[in-house]
Amino acid sequence: MREKIQALEARARQFEQGRAKRKEWRDAVIEYSDEFIDGLSEGRAYNEYTVEGLAKHPFEIESTSAEIDEVLEEIKTWIDKPGLNAASGGHIGYIPGGGLYPGALGDYIAAFMNKYSGVYYGGPGAVRLENTLVRWMCEMIGFPKTALGNLSSGGSLATMIAVVTARDFKKINSQNIRQSVIYTTVQAHHCVQKAIRISGLGEAQLRYIPVKKDFRLDENALQKTIETDKANGLNPFLVIGTAGTTDTGVIDPLDAIADIAEANDLWFHVDGAYGGFFILVDELKPLFKGIERADSVVIDPHKGLFLPYGLGAVLIKNVAAMHASHRYLPSEANYMQDSFYVDSDPSPADLSPELTKHFRGMRMWLPLKLYGVDTFKAALKEKAYLTRYFYDEVQKLGFEVGPNPSLSVTTYRYAPADMSLEAANELNKKLVELIRLDGRVFLTSTTLDGVYWIRVAVLSFRTHLKHIDIILEMLQKGIEGIK
Ligand SMILES: *Cc1c(COP(=O)(O)O)cnc(C)c1O
Repeated sequence: MREKIQALEARARQFEQGRAKRKEWRDAVIEYSDEFIDGLSEGRAYNEYTVEGLAKHPFEIESTSAEIDEVLEEIKTWIDKPGLNAASGGHIGYIPGGGLYPGALGDYIAAFMNKYSGVYYGGPGAVRLENTLVRWMCEMIGFPKTALGNLSSGGSLATMIAVVTARDFKKINSQNIRQSVIYTTVQAHHCVQKAIRISGLGEAQLRYIPVKKDFRLDENALQKTIETDKANGLNPFLVIGTAGTTDTGVIDPLDAIADIAEANDLWFHVDGAYGGFFILVDELKPLFKGIERADSVVIDPHKGLFLPYGLGAVLIKNVAAMHASHRYLPSEANYMQDSFYVDSDPSPADLSPELTKHFRGMRMWLPLKLYGVDTFKAALKEKAYLTRYFYDEVQKLGFEVGPNPSLSVTTYRYAPADMSLEAANELNKKLVELIRLDGRVFLTSTTLDGVYWIRVAVLSFRTHLKHIDIILEMLQKGIEGIK
């Protein structure tokens, strides 16, 4: 047996080929990352591809080893190139991300160290670091010191945690689910419906409260709907507002919703996945008034802190409720019996669906340390100003615009008075297509009440005036070409 094991060991030790090999691999990857990042300023935000072309590439897994250069070539050709380049400053569609370099280095550290950050007992420093980041965000939005939360893989998962906590805290069960009511607007992100469905609340009543002209929730309608529902013997328990909607970037009247939630004993959740970090900008902070009165808030560092994809956060005031919904019961997991609850810092494993997890706090902490919060504030302010500048300039070209941009999303369309709605929709679709084919910037659109609108969403840390100028130039050329 010992000989057999030793023979296997010789093979298994190939995982550890020593420093020289590590250096060879690392140098090749670093060289690629430098090339990639330096190429971004001239590169494209979008590359056309065909599904058939991509389908030809097998990404084959083989039993023998490959050379690093070969593998990197495969990555460049088949992953890096096709489709949207989300690291590009030209990415001004959907809600852009970014990918700050120290975020990648944070992942590198987290991965080689493989520190376990799920339970305090195993990784006290890692857990404390993650909880410190959560507490920093809680303080930022005005939550009390007793609040906590969780770093999740993204806003959707974070929303799930909040909805599940609200469900349990409000004691929604098989007896009362059909009478229980949730309130939001059609402008809420679809991850809200998804969280409601996945958390077993699909049979509850979901009411879409009308929005006002500027697409913000109408608080009077909310108030009236709740009154009617109560009069009909229903059980209103949850209201979801948005701080920065995906479509138009507006912020629901959070303070007014908080009043109504308080008076009617509703759990108040705020989705700040996109917009939340703009609260760091002093002159935008007043727009968020009322967020501090929420029971739970979702905020996405992989959006507003420009970090690589894979980092959302949920912040919850009632930590006991969050814990009750997500904790490990010792009686259900004997293999966890050594992981006694240390009351100094709650474990992420007890506050989320995860057990073994990515030590994702490191990719947030490192950039915050290396740049300092003021750099983030300045960049966020720049993005808001770029959007306002665009909003003014696009009107000079003769475009109609949507609501005044609150943060960094705005909508616009070219619709001469003598043009039918259908023709105008078609024309604006063509403009988006034109810009997509040019490839320097990438824009997306939305439909509001049957009307097609083009959007700009400025949130990549690499987006600057130059990109806004490209859009304006392309739009001008586009409408001239059509005229
Ligand atoms: C992006 C977004 C989400 C979903 O977050 P993910 O991180 O993509 O899962 C939810 N709400 C809003 C307003 C968003 O912009």
